Amino acid sequence: MSAPATLNPAQMEAVHYLGGPCLVLAGAGSGKTRVITHKIARLLQAGLGPKRIAAITFTNKAALEMRERARALVGPRAAQELAISTFHSLGVRMLREDGEKLGLKAQFSILDSDDVLGVLRDAGSSTDNKVARQWQWTISLWKNQGLNSDGALAAAQNADEQVAARVMKLYEERLVAYQAVDFDDLISLPLKLLRTNDDARAKWQAQFGHVLVDEYQDTNAVQYELLKALVDHPEERRRGQFTAVGDDDQSIYGWRGATIENLRRLPEDFPGLKVIPLEQNYRSTTAILRAANAVIAGNPKLFEKRLWSDRGEGEPVRVVECDGEEHEAERAVGRIQALMAQDPTLKPSDFAVLYRTNFQARPLEQKLRAAQIPYKVSGGQSFFDKAEIKDLCAWLRLLVNQDDDPAFLRAITTPKRGIGHTTLGKLGEFSGQWKVSMFEALFAESLPALVGAKALAGLHEFGRCVNDLEHRARTTVGAEDAKALMLGWLKDIAYEQHLYDHEDSEKVAAARWSNVLDFVDWVARRCGGQISQEGGATFESEKKSVLEVAQTISVILSLAERGEEQDQVTLTTLHASKGLEWPHVVLVGVNEGILPFQSEGEDMTAARLEEERRLMYVGITRAQKSLVVSTLRRRKKGRELVAGIPSRFIPEMKLHEAAQQEDPKDRLKRLRAELAAKAAASAPPAA
Ligand code: ATP
Ligand code: MG
Repeated sequence: MSAPATLNPAQMEAVHYLGGPCLVLAGAGSGKTRVITHKIARLLQAGLGPKRIAAITFTNKAALEMRERARALVGPRAAQELAISTFHSLGVRMLREDGEKLGLKAQFSILDSDDVLGVLRDAGSSTDNKVARQWQWTISLWKNQGLNSDGALAAAQNADEQVAARVMKLYEERLVAYQAVDFDDLISLPLKLLRTNDDARAKWQAQFGHVLVDEYQDTNAVQYELLKALVDHPEERRRGQFTAVGDDDQSIYGWRGATIENLRRLPEDFPGLKVIPLEQNYRSTTAILRAANAVIAGNPKLFEKRLWSDRGEGEPVRVVECDGEEHEAERAVGRIQALMAQDPTLKPSDFAVLYRTNFQARPLEQKLRAAQIPYKVSGGQSFFDKAEIKDLCAWLRLLVNQDDDPAFLRAITTPKRGIGHTTLGKLGEFSGQWKVSMFEALFAESLPALVGAKALAGLHEFGRCVNDLEHRARTTVGAEDAKALMLGWLKDIAYEQHLYDHEDSEKVAAARWSNVLDFVDWVARRCGGQISQEGGATFESEKKSVLEVAQTISVILSLAERGEEQDQVTLTTLHASKGLEWPHVVLVGVNEGILPFQSEGEDMTAARLEEERRLMYVGITRAQKSLVVSTLRRRKKGRELVAGIPSRFIPEMKLHEAAQQEDPKDRLKRLRAELAAKAAASAPPAA
């Protein structure tokens, strides 16, 4: 294997090209992400300060990984200062610094998907979650196309959309009143800032000397505009300093508004664009790559790309048929056990099982548990979606922004403090009438006329508790003090007791409490002040107050991001597997209806099928050495058992042709290796 620091000539060209906008357009595993990390090092070498280099990744986890890789190339001090983030975290930073120019106070709150749903139900006077979800979906798509409620109303195609556009208007008003933004705003508001405020535009354009974007094919229209606004210096239009890397065949977020149009527009918007293809795949064996290429050949080609590998033919891709989900899980886990038994150097983290939809993880989890193989589920319920973590986040959000009504309601009712629905209803009415937040209403002079003395005392006590905590969170910095502060606060509100009171099973309550402690540690670590060694010098990470850390919490992250990559089998959705790689991969549930996914009564359009095919391509190309594709003869559909039809993507891999194409020399090598492995497996273990 090549030394970690090597680059091939095409990669080298992309890394060293500093003459203007650059696009690396290349297939899976060709080293696009590697180009980005190396280009960071190159830019530093060229004299650009680390704070002036922005690298944008698709997930927070990818940002963390990129910082790690950069650390190995440029050292911890520079790596720490690099602006590596997702589009969303970059948006948070821009709004915290300059949101005031848009009338947003610096301590705005960020609503997560659940909060948004609550606000929408309220705004649209609907108790029906399904309806509210549909609004949420439609509004988000509109926002990602750069439309506001007026634009949406004009664009609405039918009565349902007209209603959604009207709800959107109320929703916008509420967000302004709550001083809150949703995830889509984290992109569209910074864009608005750059477009409407000359000072801010000058500042941010000067801030970043070069912007690098990974997974460019999955940016949406608004993200593209933001990128353009950041790099598009009006006086030197053609020279935007950025490097984007992407693969049109891996565009899998069309359903969320990402648009491949962004790839097509790039050369038009930046006429000087340098396009660099990469053709060598360093990840997978030829057998795996051939299957991937064969599948993706079924899609119309946007850009001609070639991809080859010199990793050797390798094991053939295997297709296995299973009797049902349980049997399938058993076989996947059995394979992991067998391979680990054959080759003692293999670790659980060398394996991944990929699937199309979250619920497919369950039987796999059960079998892995039974086999006592450690695993982690990524792309499923994130740590931050757990109820206990959301409770704590609500408290933190309230500290950051007392006008955040959704957070207020959650905090005042968890744990329960004897304040009933009637009281809260009155408080809500009052705040609506007087256009003040619920928190502000707590201390209003006319409130005592509305609620009883006991309720009033409870409300006031809650208000004081929040104010006091806010003060302490503002002044407490560094990991140790932050931890003490949070543990003290949890004790004050008797949160552990609350968990035990509300869980039937002590075991579940204990697990929840342990999540809480994990969360406390995580927040404390982010408050920093930790000392690390670099060469002979000591290096201290910047200390932050609990309040500062709380400000960024809502956008953040999954458990995995806590940087504790343990030795575990990965279970992940295909969507969340993007950019990653494992030596051995099992792709489960490769059936019609699952992959390609088809919901009840859905007409499969050509565009949808193409996106599903790209997902299959992404899945196949995650594997380095071996790939098993499994399909169900029978499968569960709701509560029923139905016949399973193998996915059309299985014949599309053209595995039979592949076998004939195998070089006789490779075949001999493979058979020998298989024999040797069998012999090793049956030999008595060494003493
Ligand atoms: P994806 O499309 O899946 O995101 P990618 O194009 O970003 O893939 P990388 O993840 O950067 O590809 O690289 C794939 C693998 O190949 C990694 O393990 C990487 O370290 C390795 N690799 C890339 N370039 C080289 C090279 N020139 N020499 C040796 N290994 C390389
Ligand atoms: Mg990549």
